[in-house]
Amino acid sequence: LFRFSVLASGSSGNALYVETDRLRMLVDAGISGRELDRRLRNVAGIQLKDIDVLLLTHEHSDHVRGLRQVLKHAHPRVFATEGTWAQVPREGDGPEPEWVSIRAGQRFEIGDLTVQAIPVSHDAEEPVMFRLEHSDGTFAVLTDLGYFSDAARHALLGCRCAVVETNHDIEMLRAGRYPWSLKRRILGDKGHLSNEDAAYGLAEVFTQRLEGPVDVYLAHLSEENNLPELAELTVKSVLMDARRDLLDAVRLRLTSRTEPTPLTALTDGEESGNIVQLRRAP
Ligand SMILES: [Zn+2]
Ligand SMILES: [Zn+2]
Repeated sequence: LFRFSVLASGSSGNALYVETDRLRMLVDAGISGRELDRRLRNVAGIQLKDIDVLLLTHEHSDHVRGLRQVLKHAHPRVFATEGTWAQVPREGDGPEPEWVSIRAGQRFEIGDLTVQAIPVSHDAEEPVMFRLEHSDGTFAVLTDLGYFSDAARHALLGCRCAVVETNHDIEMLRAGRYPWSLKRRILGDKGHLSNEDAAYGLAEVFTQRLEGPVDVYLAHLSEENNLPELAELTVKSVLMDARRDLLDAVRLRLTSRTEPTPLTALTDGEESGNIVQLRRAP
């Protein structure tokens, strides 16, 4: 069994829940502990205290905002690079959390998962992305990356499902009200993937090799500089241009800041080819 829900995704906060026969795991904890607990109860019928593994990608607050609460209520093994762990806020009264030091490029086992930590270009201390391999299929989380690197392309190969950053629309960002220094950071090699970056990266990977249906969750959208419809449309049109039948196999799904995606098994949905449209936030 491998089931997951994108609990929250966007520049304001990111968390992913994964459960297998042996693990109840979070990848990042970038929303409050209270919200994590509420969403876990609603979507998976469990509580925050039931989490036994936490993977951290990097120390930015939209990925660790709820960390203190997670460590207070649950007692997970935390997998993070040395650089990330040195930067995260975690002081509290409780016992020192169980930290497992990982490195970019490393493969390691957690329960019934093989995890690969993938190096990433992003303006954090020692950030990584993750590829999770399970007997039911392979799942990749590719967010907070400055450009679509070879490592990112590699991580996508053979995936049944991937969470991929479509952070901003370049024109919206350029025309928007962010200060120039911030715009330059986001657009730079250590910033975030635009809709176009993600689209061309995905097209390149999937025109080269596609072994079966793939669900791609468009993730980490900027509230200020993107729209879900625009991200979807951009990726869709680039994929269609690359190969007309690509969208028969690559299913695009949206994520949201406010609403978790339904708990989904990796083996689900092999037939359905429709875009899942989440309810817009009020
Ligand atoms: Zn982020
Ligand atoms: Zn970041």
